[in-house]
Amino acid sequence: MRFGTVAGRLVLERDGRVLDVERASGGRLPADAVGGLARWGELRAWAADADWGAAQPVRPEQFGPPVPVPGQVFAVALNYRPHAQEAGFTAPEAPLVFTKFPSCIAGPVAEVALPAGKVDWEIEVVAVIGAGGRHLPPERAWDAVAGLTVGQDLSERVQQLAGTPAQFSLGKSHAGFGPIGPVVVTADEFDDPDDVAFECRLGDEVVQHGRTSEMIFPVAELVARISAVCELRPGDLIFTGTPAGVGNRRTPPRYLQPGETLVSAVAGIGEIRQRFAA
Ligand code: ZN
Repeated sequence: MRFGTVAGRLVLERDGRVLDVERASGGRLPADAVGGLARWGELRAWAADADWGAAQPVRPEQFGPPVPVPGQVFAVALNYRPHAQEAGFTAPEAPLVFTKFPSCIAGPVAEVALPAGKVDWEIEVVAVIGAGGRHLPPERAWDAVAGLTVGQDLSERVQQLAGTPAQFSLGKSHAGFGPIGPVVVTADEFDDPDDVAFECRLGDEVVQHGRTSEMIFPVAELVARISAVCELRPGDLIFTGTPAGVGNRRTPPRYLQPGETLVSAVAGIGEIRQRFAA
């Protein structure tokens, strides 16, 4: 099952067409994403044999963020060994968790105004929480997850790394710095939801690529470790970390410039596209 939002309304997506959940269910299911995720079992059961007669064609730019207003947004630093190495760190022994404040969440196709400083890219696969819960053991963790989507953890490095110790969250929470989408894809749609390929292109150049099987702490481990502290609720997001190839670790460093376009693609899900403006 693939779902997202169009004009703020929860939709299923299939072959470039979308089905409005609230209307097609005759009002049985809600129109908002968090409301639908809160009734995850019911939504899945209905979707399994929904009538697609009223489905409409959709263009990529019509999708909003699959969860427009998530309650909590977790993000994980240094979750790929080569990226930990390029950043000058040894691999962490426990997930390094910070937040992207939810007001940074944006749709999959958008223009992003570059703030002062040095703005960098980080492609990430994002886990979207469905049922959620507390104290979820790793072997049951995927049951709490609705699916995966594509994300960018856009980061203004000057503010991110200022001070000792540095604080990550503000520099990663400017307007438009958390684009996600175009849809969430449930785990059963992947050959192996723990081995999903992705790549990030800046103009013609592939700047990052990898597979989620290379994560130090895979999705189930992140869900277990985070839910041991924070209750995971429907619609919460976990940005699962970025691989090597970010701009500030290149020689010379490279940052996003006005007029550039960044495309982030995850196999089996789709791509998101940000154009940058001054
Ligand atoms: Zn990140």
